[in-house]
Amino acid sequence: MSASPSTVPAGSEPIRTETLIIGAGPCGLFQVFELGLLGIGAHIVDSLATPGGQCAELYPDKPIYDIPALPVCGAQELVDRLLQQIKPFNPQFHLGQEVSELTPQEGGRFQVSTAAGTRFDAGAVVIAAGLGSFQPRRIGLAGCEPFEGKQIQYRVRNARELAGKRIVIFGGGDSALDWTLELAGKARSLVLVHRRAEFKAAPASVARMREAAASGQIRYIEGLAHALLVEDGDVRGVQVKGTDGTLHSLEADQLLTFFGLHPKLGPVAQWGLELDRKALKVDTEKFQTSVPGIFAVGDINTYPGKKKLILSGFHEAALAAFGVQHHLYPQKKQFLQYTTTSPVMHQRLGVPD
Ligand SMILES: Cc1cc2nc3c(=O)[nH]c(=O)nc-3n(C[C@H](O)[C@H](O)[C@H](O)COP(=O)(O)OP(=O)(O)OC[C@H]3O[C@@H](n4cnc5c(N)ncnc54)[C@H](O)[C@@H]3O)c2cc1C
Repeated sequence: MSASPSTVPAGSEPIRTETLIIGAGPCGLFQVFELGLLGIGAHIVDSLATPGGQCAELYPDKPIYDIPALPVCGAQELVDRLLQQIKPFNPQFHLGQEVSELTPQEGGRFQVSTAAGTRFDAGAVVIAAGLGSFQPRRIGLAGCEPFEGKQIQYRVRNARELAGKRIVIFGGGDSALDWTLELAGKARSLVLVHRRAEFKAAPASVARMREAAASGQIRYIEGLAHALLVEDGDVRGVQVKGTDGTLHSLEADQLLTFFGLHPKLGPVAQWGLELDRKALKVDTEKFQTSVPGIFAVGDINTYPGKKKLILSGFHEAALAAFGVQHHLYPQKKQFLQYTTTSPVMHQRLGVPD
């Protein structure tokens, strides 16, 4: 099953929400569920274009063996199951947006904004940011910085703009191969550069790429980016060093680099929360950070005995939900209800009594 969560476009008015969850990895997703059981709504933001965090981004096809009651579960399958489980609570997803600012307001609420301009007015915040926000691995050529996001891109924002251009694509995974096949025939010229003979991409795509190279539609070079060719302040091309040592000077208007993503703590470290070695310090009663009303669950937090396991993050999400409830509604009496027997939870889950 592949659930597609609803997404909300970036807007100028702050979105008022009971809870904002930062990070749609497995722990952020399960946080939606635990809050939903208590009748608390959530918006959820992730810098990635799809939910699932490390499971979806780093090891979607690998089996996980330590999720309770699931003897074996694929990592993407776990994400799909979590998405299905949280459906009754209709969380609002804001994907492809990094949360850049988090500012406490008087009265215990929070202003949160993303780099894409979406703003939130949140009653409580749960940070489920894992190892940080995933960033593209950079090409790392001398003098490349001013061109990044322009003539050097790490993702395609507008494919139509690439038509008729001279393009060099770097990488050997699905993104590199998919874009090679998509742009072959539309670009003025296209060269694919990959550092070794083996590809991570789907074998069918590799076969199609090889056919396109054999027919002369594209060129394929096994090698590494060596130097940028810059003239009059513009990238004019790139020099590539083949694995046989040959230097190839390629004319190019646009370099597309797909070396995968890696997590970087990023803005979380700037929000004035107490840190211990790149992790947010929390208590083990509510998993609250050093700022009341801001909670942290999953790989991003630390406390004595912390183990970075999905199982631990699920437990933390259950207790953090009660912490959020107390922060939002301090007068409310808290009591434990079982999903098996609670009519109110059945109503929230949409199951008939
Ligand atoms: C190869 C591998 C195998 C593993 N196998 C297992 C296993 O068998 N069992 C197990 O229990 N664990 C396993 N783990 C660990 C497990 O994947 C992590 O514990 C789990 O993913 C943590 O979930 P999370 O929700 O806390 O964070 P993550 O999965 O890291 O998700 C965090 C999300 O937050 C987003 N984010 C961060 N900062 C921001 C920001 N500022 N704005 C917007 N979004 C942001 C990120 O983009 C990311 O999507 C494995 C990990 C790896 C790498």
